[in-house]
Amino acid sequence: MSRFTSKGMWRIPGTGKKKKKDKAGTEEPMIVKQCFCPNGHNLINPKVNVQGHHGILLKVKRGKDEGFVALSPVCGDKSKYTIDIELHEGEVIEMLCPKCNVPLPIYAPCDCGADMITLFRDKHGNFCNCIGICNRVGCSHSEIKWGTELFNLYRRKGEIRGTEGYI
Ligand SMILES: [Zn+2]
Ligand SMILES: [Zn+2]
Repeated sequence: MSRFTSKGMWRIPGTGKKKKKDKAGTEEPMIVKQCFCPNGHNLINPKVNVQGHHGILLKVKRGKDEGFVALSPVCGDKSKYTIDIELHEGEVIEMLCPKCNVPLPIYAPCDCGADMITLFRDKHGNFCNCIGICNRVGCSHSEIKWGTELFNLYRRKGEIRGTEGYI
């Protein structure tokens, strides 16, 4: 193959990648519409836009540094951006509610040695109705995980307590 097209244009290999369609083609991505801190504050912030959706805004702490991180509400989407703080791959950060500063509770340890942090899907702090995210920047689990996905992840490892009745 010539490096130029018939029109003399430079061929650039590897571009024009087509986006893969969903397996079923019809499956809607799961989008978190609301999620809460243990005190019932909604963490979805309409002022934050991530990938065209209202993002999940969390306060983050690393030592003395504080800032915010906006997460994509789409399950499996790692898009996020930081405000007033620079985060680096591999760092473990504290995640707090931006309204009441309460640290978000730990769901279970993550594979990477950091923690899976809980965001509740109702105002009652119910661990059976929650989503999770690893607090290590760049972890393969540093995206919103839906309750069932989260549950299955840990059920396999047998690390969840009080699972009777679910299996
Ligand atoms: Zn709160
Ligand atoms: Zn992790």
